[in-house]
Amino acid sequence: MLMMTRFLKSSFVDTLLALSVVLGLPQFLHAQAAVPAAKLSVHWEELTASDFREGIHRSQGTCLLPFGILEKHGPHLPLGTDLLDVRYAALHAADQEYAVVFPEYYFGQIAEAKHEPGTIAYSRTMQLALLQETTDEMARNGCKKILIVNGHGGNDSLLPFFAQTQLDKPHDYVVYVFDERTPREGGPAKKTKIDMHAGESETSKMMVSRPDTVHLDRATNESGADQARQKIPSDVYTGIWWYTRFPNHYSGDGSVATKELGEFQMKWWIDSVVKAIRVVKADDVSLKLQNEFYEKSTHPLDTQP
Ligand SMILES: [Zn+2]
Repeated sequence: MLMMTRFLKSSFVDTLLALSVVLGLPQFLHAQAAVPAAKLSVHWEELTASDFREGIHRSQGTCLLPFGILEKHGPHLPLGTDLLDVRYAALHAADQEYAVVFPEYYFGQIAEAKHEPGTIAYSRTMQLALLQETTDEMARNGCKKILIVNGHGGNDSLLPFFAQTQLDKPHDYVVYVFDERTPREGGPAKKTKIDMHAGESETSKMMVSRPDTVHLDRATNESGADQARQKIPSDVYTGIWWYTRFPNHYSGDGSVATKELGEFQMKWWIDSVVKAIRVVKADDVSLKLQNEFYEKSTHPLDTQP
């Protein structure tokens, strides 16, 4: 009898609980939806361990790796210009379209500026090994879609090579590269034709991201003109090409920079990174076909009809 009472009591309580769950759940969900999701930092290094887990969930495993460098930027901009600019663009983009942003990364290709003070030029093997271990470690922590946002022209060959060679062995993540920094048209009219490094565009962007580091009064202390000293056609490549044209590691004229141009270009850059993050989040093809490719590559003779 006692047992029976206990049984009845417990099944009654269970039924009540079950009913309350069934009836109360929609209300509960509604209450949850009404509360805005807590603000999470986009900075990897500012998240607690459990907030990091929530960040990976919220970003759908999409993480940004803004890629800068330490090199001379004419006579008037700081060594970290590319790092400062690309992080400004990437962090503002991630604020609009949530993604976890990896900390300062500046271990790229800059052999061509080793003759200037303050350049940190890692060896070719170190650049590739460090980048591979960094993306491997990011992926081990849930970043299955890694968008490298490049802020440095000297990486233009390194990054496609890195992405291409992800096919050499299986990875459970995809590397994407976004490598645009400056709109080709629109905005305030530009005053200079040559504008490849520390010139009108880059100086203007720095007047937005870190105006306190820009020394506009020094921008004409050195020449950023093209010295055109190499007499070979442009379709024949050499590593010394940049030095033959711009030995001061300065290309253009930063003195004509304006905040208005910087605001236009930086907004374009941020908007473009936002679009890239959305494209990456929506991409459900690359990893699937990458896996199919890895599998087929283990038995190439069987894949022919
Ligand atoms: Zn730069």
